[in-house]
Amino acid sequence: PSSLDKEQMQGLRAIREFLKVRTSYDVLPLSFRLIILDNNLLIRKSLNILIQNGIVSAPLWDSRRSAFAGLLTSTDYINVIQYYCQFPDEIDQVDQFRLSSLRDIERAIGVEPLETVSVHPMRPLYEACRRMLKTRARRIPLVDVDDETGHEMVVNVITQYRILKFIAVNNEKHTMLLKKSVRDIGLGTYSNLATADMNASVLDVIHLMVKYNISAIPIVDKDYKVLNVFEAVDVIPCIKGGAYDELSSSVGDALTRRADDFPGIYTCSEDDRLDAIFETIRKSKIHRLIVVDDDSRLKGIISLSDILKYVLLYGEEDDVIQEF
Ligand code: ADP
Repeated sequence: PSSLDKEQMQGLRAIREFLKVRTSYDVLPLSFRLIILDNNLLIRKSLNILIQNGIVSAPLWDSRRSAFAGLLTSTDYINVIQYYCQFPDEIDQVDQFRLSSLRDIERAIGVEPLETVSVHPMRPLYEACRRMLKTRARRIPLVDVDDETGHEMVVNVITQYRILKFIAVNNEKHTMLLKKSVRDIGLGTYSNLATADMNASVLDVIHLMVKYNISAIPIVDKDYKVLNVFEAVDVIPCIKGGAYDELSSSVGDALTRRADDFPGIYTCSEDDRLDAIFETIRKSKIHRLIVVDDDSRLKGIISLSDILKYVLLYGEEDDVIQEF
């Protein structure tokens, strides 16, 4: 192997060691707020609460059992939309659904319930990362047990972005060693890309996300130039106020409903190196990178899970990978 390969491996190993000696708790800021929603809340009302607070997900609480009841995410709203599509006559009922009905909705539309994985905040961060990759969870709740009451307690939720940011901020010395390009390490997906054009309906795009089990669809023009990206979280403002019939309007219209603080779309080229990607993660709130050529034409997509997977698993023996 070249010295570039050696350095790269050295950097990756150092980051893995770092993840083994830090806990999920370490990722959390010194002070934070956590919005937890009661399971009994109407789904319709949960949308407004998320939007008003500028969040896209929240832990759920079952106050009857005093227990953590899973994580509400954009996938749940996509499920509600699928339910509405399958049973359009039941729109009045959809309006009356509570968060506690989300599991029934999954059953009615025949989707596998997402495995609710949680980790203890004091376990190694490495473990949380491995769980995320294994279950494809994009966020993991940190659940502890209250000493006095013996009840479960949700401390916070960590996301792939927060973990990568934590790595980027604390390992500058090691990410500096990652000098191989995106092309060289084959980071991301470059074939069978799911895309749509501006005139596609929001529903078309949602169906694509469900079919491919992905969380973003690049919106391209006739020359395959990237104009925008529709993300799973973009469905939240679309169905605010129970406006399900508006889902047949175009993605172009829907994207104008984004919050003013929308962080934007991040692109890179296949020649960019992983150290530069970590630099971007250090500075900006990115959810994925869209890989484009010099003419802004779509080449591929690098998701945060692609990056996390590479950082954790590249070059590991198979038996180590099986372990978790
Ligand atoms: P994450 O799991 O980080 O939220 P995604 O669900 O979007 O990311 O991506 C899951 C996998 O699918 C990744 O390997 C990613 O490269 C790939 N992928 C993401 N978007 C698309 C797309 N529009 N078309 C094809 N593959 C995609």
